[in-house]
Amino acid sequence: MEELAILGGKPVRETKIYYGRQWVDEDDVAAVAETLRGNLITCGPKVQELEKELAAYTGAKYAVAVSNGTAALHCACLAAGIKEGDEVITTPLTFAASANCALYVGARPVFADINPETYNIDPKSIRSKITERTKAVVAVDFTGQCVENEAIRKICDEYHLVFIEDAAHAIGSAYNGKKVGSLADMTCFSFHPVKTVTSGEGGAVTVNNEELYKKVVLAHTHGITHDAELMEDAPHEGPWYYEQISLGFNYRMTDFQAALLISQLKKLEFFKARRKEIVNRYNEAFADTPGLIVQKEIPESDTCRHLYIIRLDLDKLNCTRREFFDAMSAENVQCQVHYVPTYYFPYYRKLGYEKGLCPNAEKVYEGIMSIPLYPKMTDEEVEDVIHAVKKIIAWYTK
Ligand SMILES: *Cc1c(COP(=O)(O)O)cnc(C)c1O
Repeated sequence: MEELAILGGKPVRETKIYYGRQWVDEDDVAAVAETLRGNLITCGPKVQELEKELAAYTGAKYAVAVSNGTAALHCACLAAGIKEGDEVITTPLTFAASANCALYVGARPVFADINPETYNIDPKSIRSKITERTKAVVAVDFTGQCVENEAIRKICDEYHLVFIEDAAHAIGSAYNGKKVGSLADMTCFSFHPVKTVTSGEGGAVTVNNEELYKKVVLAHTHGITHDAELMEDAPHEGPWYYEQISLGFNYRMTDFQAALLISQLKKLEFFKARRKEIVNRYNEAFADTPGLIVQKEIPESDTCRHLYIIRLDLDKLNCTRREFFDAMSAENVQCQVHYVPTYYFPYYRKLGYEKGLCPNAEKVYEGIMSIPLYPKMTDEEVEDVIHAVKKIIAWYTK
């Protein structure tokens, strides 16, 4: 058996590899530079062009570019009219923003449990958490795999809930042939550098309903409108005139970020194909490995995978997740854990949330870690990661 690097053996790799990394090339740099040399570096034509492209790509009627994915979620909650006293159902196995957006508008996040095989929110659990106060569901396409859109849609229709999809992981994914972005009432994207395409910081809301669209637009520009149709004090006084008709925020994206994202979108199909290639290689390498559990895929989801998660079957191993994680690090493969269940955080604890709320999510959390997955990885690097995982599994198998 190969001796683990953490115990003094030779590491699988000489240099560190990380769980995620952006792909920015000279085309992207040129697109940004061109915009910076122009007249408008914000509120210009690139943002409009991007919004058109995002709508066309996702199949949604409208898209609104915003400053980040968290702002997208906040705008969606504002547009949905969620307010104090309301409840918003979401998953705990996600980045904190999926629940924080409910708190921003004074509502209470309610955590539904996950399916222990797909790690996505379980529609049955959503159903069991509905009360008279429930206003919306924020469903996260965890790792890029589509949530059970059909079942969630049905529940939302039945109870008149707003269906918000947190697709921060899922640009490029499709459910039954329909692109993520066209399915829910509002879909929120993030373009942070660890995500599949990036604008540095950035996000977007896609939406089909015109009324909701207008509300998202207002929410991301101070609640201020130049649209005469929306104004209350007509006729308006002159060309300079605009009105603030609600309380919004400045969540605009800049034009040079939009230029970067337009350029990134040209590579999205290639990114998706390369990510799929790596995921397939990992799946094949890890299938039927005692001690390892592979995330299950639902057949409806054509997944552009953002994260590859291995789950340790700790009953079959003589190590803790922490020991496995540190051993991977010593082999020079730097993993990450996505995510600490949101309600474990002190801030949530102080709001009255307690451990035990979502047993499946808690159990899954104990064994998971994300291994490197990004299109720039070479085949050799992919094999190094597999080598490291298998070496450590072999060492610790009971
Ligand atoms: C990244 C992420 C967000 C927040 O996006 P930002 O652009 O970082 O604000 C929200 N939800 C999920 C699931 C994410 O992964």
